[in-house]
Amino acid sequence: MPHEASCLPTTALAASLLLAAWPAVADEPVVIAHRGASGYLPEHTLEAKALAHGLGADYLEQDVVLTRDGVPIVLHDLWLEELTDVATVYPGRARADGRWYAIDFTLEEIRRLRQHERRAPGGAALRWPGRFDAAGVGFRIHTLAEELAFIAGLNRSTGRHAGVYPEIKEPAWHHAEGKDITLAVLEVLAAAGYSRRGDDIYLQCFDPRELERIRFELKSELRLVQLIGDAGEVEGVAFAAMRTDEGLDRVAAYADGIGPHLSHLATLAPGAPPQSTGLVERAHRRGLRVHPYTFRVEQLAGWGLTAGQLNHWLFAVERADGLFTDQPDVTRAWLDRRPAAAPP
Ligand code: CA
Repeated sequence: MPHEASCLPTTALAASLLLAAWPAVADEPVVIAHRGASGYLPEHTLEAKALAHGLGADYLEQDVVLTRDGVPIVLHDLWLEELTDVATVYPGRARADGRWYAIDFTLEEIRRLRQHERRAPGGAALRWPGRFDAAGVGFRIHTLAEELAFIAGLNRSTGRHAGVYPEIKEPAWHHAEGKDITLAVLEVLAAAGYSRRGDDIYLQCFDPRELERIRFELKSELRLVQLIGDAGEVEGVAFAAMRTDEGLDRVAAYADGIGPHLSHLATLAPGAPPQSTGLVERAHRRGLRVHPYTFRVEQLAGWGLTAGQLNHWLFAVERADGLFTDQPDVTRAWLDRRPAAAPP
């Protein structure tokens, strides 16, 4: 088949040129299941993690807070009332601000709670109407150690590997409460086999001081991701400044990637194509991966984009390295069907 034979070197050359043209950090983009497949099952439940694994997520996310007895549990909020029946089970144990904080309860007490889909504070309305809402199913909150063991089990039984992507929540707040969440999390991670540079984990946090501590003081080798807050400044952390060239230079000294809000990458508005801020390119120049948050099917209409248009813009135009997504199957399907990599 002379025709095929003559085509082969050209194709191989073209492929090698394409590869050479990709930025150094542009591996295959990764699908990060945001709180599990939280678009389909209550966030952070083991059921939501199992579904995300089955739907092809490359990484499963864990938000982590501490219990009263210092155990890292997988929970997004510092408090319990938007996701559980804590107000019914433990009336009278809210703080003055009306919230039931996880850190005021032992693990044993938290295990008695039943978890449900997220509801608006003080109301019966689902935060995301249309999502899973089966009263009486009785989901439970679990520990970080249990989830890591669960994922290791899935990786073994399916032969398909997914990495982990824990977030240390509010380290300064935990410290003010007399607890060192970072040490507790690193200990659980190490026990589960996540302590070395090559381990398949990203450890994320919004607090740059804590990430610097993890890298320089605690000398962790793990891949670190600096989350960038939606607001300009929170508790002394200037998130807007973090997105400047000088800010990215500082982040690149301790982190391996950034987790910006999608709106930090471009102006997203109905009726106009996304206008890039150049953040992905500037981060790539510093060797930082870019994993923006959060894809939700429910929010696409507000940006005037279809799922396909958003994924095309994010991965084919901006060349982001991954995406936090509530619907990991949507992102997975787009990445699996996309055309071969085009020149940047
Ligand atoms: Ca998170």
